[in-house]
Amino acid sequence: HNKLTVSELAEKLNKEASEIIKKLMFLGVMATKNQDLDDDTIELICAEFDVEVEKEIILEDTDFDKYIEEDKQEDLIERPAVVTIMGHVDHGKTTLLDSIRHTKVTAGEAGGITQHIGAYQVENDGKKITFLDTPGHAAFTSMRSRGAQVTDVAILVVAADDGVMPQTVEAINHAKAAEVPIIVAVNKMDKEGANPDRVMQELTEYELIPEDWGGDTIFVNLSAIKGEGIDELLEMIVLVSEVEELKANPHTTAFGTVIDAQLDKGRGSVATLLVQNGTLHVSDSIVVGNTHGRVRAMVNDLGKRVNNAGPSTPVEITGLNDVPQAGDQFLVFKDEKKARQIGEARQQKQIQENRGEQTKVSLDDLFEQI
Ligand code: GDP
Ligand code: MG
Repeated sequence: HNKLTVSELAEKLNKEASEIIKKLMFLGVMATKNQDLDDDTIELICAEFDVEVEKEIILEDTDFDKYIEEDKQEDLIERPAVVTIMGHVDHGKTTLLDSIRHTKVTAGEAGGITQHIGAYQVENDGKKITFLDTPGHAAFTSMRSRGAQVTDVAILVVAADDGVMPQTVEAINHAKAAEVPIIVAVNKMDKEGANPDRVMQELTEYELIPEDWGGDTIFVNLSAIKGEGIDELLEMIVLVSEVEELKANPHTTAFGTVIDAQLDKGRGSVATLLVQNGTLHVSDSIVVGNTHGRVRAMVNDLGKRVNNAGPSTPVEITGLNDVPQAGDQFLVFKDEKKARQIGEARQQKQIQENRGEQTKVSLDDLFEQI
């Protein structure tokens, strides 16, 4: 194990070596400056100086990155795009999400239409697309995973009779900051005062220039309420996602992000997860945010029970010990014990962070930089 001498510990604690030696004498240990100290002694000394040394479980590295293996190039296959709809209030975001869903979900699956899990998937010409049913801004700000965006494509909805409004500009800024490609959906084309040219004109100011005008932004005119232009929009999403070359490895343990979570009276903790890499299976041991558990049951966006969920698939799970938060990441562990250990460590860490009144230092922090 690591070793720390008296003077090294003194330095870490911002004390004189003589102060440490004095404390050691007090504890009945005669020591010199260069003497190695064991973990228990270090803990005692730290306690003397009101520095709490975190317990062994905290030493377990809780960072998911440490447990995620690099994917082999040959394991990567195309995955569906994850799409977020943004735009000014009342420009038709919700109507568009509903319209896409109803257009693409057949009557046979009608039971699913009422199901609401915070995200859904549709198929267009054999290509799947995943839509996040969350406010666009939240999807960008809270749902970052491993520094990357959860969202692959942003649909900017602008009402043709209203044009660019403050939240339109806000949405553009969010998408640009996140470096997510934007497709403009000019909505409400059925309305009397619809003026798509004006929308295009106004958007040039934000460097969203249509291809006809020499730019590279895709514009689709539609009427969400009448379901017109939906197919073209979906085609364009597929086109953009092909350019992005979105890939994932379905053969590894699942990793992803929490879309939504709540406590259900009957079922306990219920969380909607978006699998971003790997495949999630029923009975997988999983750490989600600061909680953990085993996937008891999985339900897809159509309300059907499923046993596994691959990349870009949204799925609702039960079996967690606690309710995670939207934006939390999850990771599956092959070893159930490991999942429990890391889950508990993350929980412990959070409790300590919430408490946060005492100076804390982990043994690892102490041993670092030697
Ligand atoms: P959101 O705030 O962006 O989610 O907007 P909503 O989807 O709630 O739509 C706001 C209002 O615009 C509602 O009354 C919709 O019925 C209406 N609306 C949405 N899309 C269209 C459309 O294509 N044509 C017309 N005429 N009205 C629309
Ligand atoms: Mg809405």
